[in-house]
Amino acid sequence: MTDVLIIGGGIVGLAIADELLRVHPDLDVEIHDKETSLAQHASGRNSGVLHAGFYYYPDSMKARLTRVGNSLLREFCAERGVAVRDVGKVVVTRSAEELPLLHDLYERGVTNGVELEVIDERRLAELEPLAKTHEQALWSPTTGSADPMAVITALAARVQERGGRVVLGSSVRAAGPGWVTTSEGYRSVGHVVNAAGLHADTVGRWFGVGEEYRMLPFKGLYWYGSWPAGRLQRHVYPVPDPRNPFLGVHLTVAADGRAKIGPTAIPALSREAYSGVSGLSAGEAWQVARTLPRFLASPHHDAKSLIASEMPKYLHSHLVKEAAQLVPSVRPEDFRTKGRAGIRAQLFDTRRNRLEMDFVVRPGPRSTHVLNAVSPGWTTALAMARDVVADWRME
Ligand SMILES: Cc1cc2nc3c(=O)[nH]c(=O)nc-3n(C[C@H](O)[C@H](O)[C@H](O)COP(=O)(O)OP(=O)(O)OC[C@H]3O[C@@H](n4cnc5c(N)ncnc54)[C@H](O)[C@@H]3O)c2cc1C
Repeated sequence: MTDVLIIGGGIVGLAIADELLRVHPDLDVEIHDKETSLAQHASGRNSGVLHAGFYYYPDSMKARLTRVGNSLLREFCAERGVAVRDVGKVVVTRSAEELPLLHDLYERGVTNGVELEVIDERRLAELEPLAKTHEQALWSPTTGSADPMAVITALAARVQERGGRVVLGSSVRAAGPGWVTTSEGYRSVGHVVNAAGLHADTVGRWFGVGEEYRMLPFKGLYWYGSWPAGRLQRHVYPVPDPRNPFLGVHLTVAADGRAKIGPTAIPALSREAYSGVSGLSAGEAWQVARTLPRFLASPHHDAKSLIASEMPKYLHSHLVKEAAQLVPSVRPEDFRTKGRAGIRAQLFDTRRNRLEMDFVVRPGPRSTHVLNAVSPGWTTALAMARDVVADWRME
């Protein structure tokens, strides 16, 4: 019997395996992923931004884990020779109305223990001459970038060195306390960890965990620039709308120095519908169609304006125009290379009638469940794994 079987070999599943084996080296740990290669979903399709941790409300898991996760990921990258690009981030304002929101963000960051500075236009011009702001901006020196594929490859290697088994092409079709059925058949297991990303709600329901949640996937599209590497020196973000969990279209500097625009936050009909009709599922589309009206009617968000502003971003010209509000030298003809689209595993809470804004980690019978592993789940994975393992119980 395997002691611990982890469903999902994304960064969350691998980080939990890695930490479990560090603390309990005698455990027999297997990670099963339905794909035949690593990082086919969010962990390989994200912006690669090491977030600093200033967006999140101080009592949230996101706030608690991001700053620590940022340092742990940096340490990990240093140990395994994965490059981290220390670009920092500027958050710019587009009008005077956004200045109070910028100051709120600053206060939140300070409460979260994050190094931050309110800067004027002159200092912004020194840090990122291409960015534009209205009077003031925010400077976050601890935000960075790394290549998500390089990180996941290095983490899987460390898990294997510690004795973990990564089993690819193995889909877990059903599970319950003490057992799983994979594509290879029935297995007895001591404990199941649910790190199934876009399918974590389904796995949770097998154990009676998180039954109030419905998946409301949001797609993120990216466009790479043809600018020489390093022309854009810093990540450039707008002030986000505090009522929605997404950060708005921004420009980031990838680990290789290329500038990219995105991601969007467009509602997707299915969890893995990355492009065209591939990945579309009638059952999932039906569930989204039933949940979306509740999101639109929710008093907790400004869903109508979110959707009204996001849908046009399917149009390249519109997306580029938005980005040009932050960096005026952005021209449509310079951002023509599509990046790999990603889909966020965003959950809607049907009891509270709102999007779940935080990570959710819950125990279940002989199982542990990581739900709503949305951004900044890549930055926080190693810190979240420490939390999960610190509270570890096999039953
Ligand atoms: C567009 C986008 C941009 C983002 N940008 C950032 C960023 O810049 N910085 C940041 O910190 N975070 C970012 N995030 C968030 C971050 O990518 C995620 O929080 C993180 O990757 C979640 O990891 P995961 O392991 O939970 O999910 P995943 O990487 O999706 O892994 C889950 C795995 O489970 C497997 N699986 C599912 N069901 C089964 C099953 N039944 N049997 C076997 N295997 C199964 C899947 O194949 C998958 O490989 C972004 C996310 C998106 C979508």
